[in-house]
Amino acid sequence: MAGRNFLFVPGPTNVPDRVLRAMVVSMEDHRSPKFPALTNEMMPGLKKVFRTEHGTPFIFPSSGTGCWEAAVTNTLSPGDRVLAARFGQFSHLWIDMCTRLGLDVQIVDCEWGTGVPLQQYADILKADTGHKIKAVLACHNETATGVTSDIAGVREALDEAKHPALLFVDCVSSLGSIDFRFDDWGVDMAVSGSQKGLMLPAGLGILCASQKALAMRESAQMKRAYFDLGDMMTSNATGYFPYTPALSLMYGLVESLKMIEEEGLDNIFARHHYLAEGVRAAVIKGWGLKLCAKEAKWYSDTVSAILVPEGKNGAEVIARAYSRYNVSLGAGLSKVAGKLFRIGHLGDMNEVHLMAAIAGAEMAMLDCGISVTPGSGVAAASEYWRTHQPPSGLLMRGTPNELKESHGTNSLPRSAVVKG
Ligand SMILES: *Cc1c(COP(=O)(O)O)cnc(C)c1O
Repeated sequence: MAGRNFLFVPGPTNVPDRVLRAMVVSMEDHRSPKFPALTNEMMPGLKKVFRTEHGTPFIFPSSGTGCWEAAVTNTLSPGDRVLAARFGQFSHLWIDMCTRLGLDVQIVDCEWGTGVPLQQYADILKADTGHKIKAVLACHNETATGVTSDIAGVREALDEAKHPALLFVDCVSSLGSIDFRFDDWGVDMAVSGSQKGLMLPAGLGILCASQKALAMRESAQMKRAYFDLGDMMTSNATGYFPYTPALSLMYGLVESLKMIEEEGLDNIFARHHYLAEGVRAAVIKGWGLKLCAKEAKWYSDTVSAILVPEGKNGAEVIARAYSRYNVSLGAGLSKVAGKLFRIGHLGDMNEVHLMAAIAGAEMAMLDCGISVTPGSGVAAASEYWRTHQPPSGLLMRGTPNELKESHGTNSLPRSAVVKG
């Protein structure tokens, strides 16, 4: 098939060429005296991305799911109660893991398309005067439904109840793309992975632990081996890892952290919001369709889950977009299978790149008999992007005049100018 595949699943995301090139390295001895320099380059950059001074970052050769397990097994004991809300496939899977690991999960089931129910969390925590709840789980960005939750609000609920439970946050699809504040929000365990906002292939589980969480290791009775943070801390202290680190991915991480530093976290969040607003304009104003997220306060800036009209099948749209237009859209998972398709708009992306998702989804929908007005999605997104100030990450370097000149005939070498 000629042309490229356009990848709009919300993870793995597009890996920038710079990062791809940085990963093409010969293998090295991970016990050499040179190796700690690499560790020392990654860790401070990760702390900045988590917005923490006091937290400790960890890098596991795993996916994000591994760090869900690390967070839980290093801090809790079998039978401990944890509070968790379920409103999508990812919040569900973490709950499922906790149950399988022998924890007593107090589940708050919420409508899919909503997020962490702050009032219910606050009421439950206030009522738990005996402090039976040892940890509170929150999925910052539910990738299955395109819903972002208010983590500062969860911290408030804990503080108001003067509840000592640990706060565990899944930030797999928000870290480095939606504002996340480890220290300000008093997060104890933040779980992430390499293949979303960090713009890398899958393969690194990334975790950040508070001092309070690390202190729990002494008393935590859950079984742990591969994901024991103690082994990691002992090795990391000398710049090494307890087992073979994923070297290529780490070189990629150093490069992606450089890119994040260059653009600036706040600019990155602004870019994600601006791009997401364009997609939402396409969906709501252009196509007249609905997002799975029930209210604007839940809208995710990294992924939009788009409901197809009643009687239509989102899976058919995804299949058609892929097989006919070489565009990869995200599937509806579990409870929402067939009801929606998703456009991931996180990581390395700009307006015209994202237009491929909008145009591709629109053609696929029309082919599947969904009656949207041809061109309406692109028109609405273009209207939004052309009338709003683009964030700095989308602007070319150089002054407007310099840029104009470099495109004018004036900048051509004399020999190239044909005289009439
Ligand atoms: C992708 C994702 C995960 C799972 O991460 P893996 O790297 O696939 O293990 C967990 N939570 C959320 C919110 C995600 O988006």
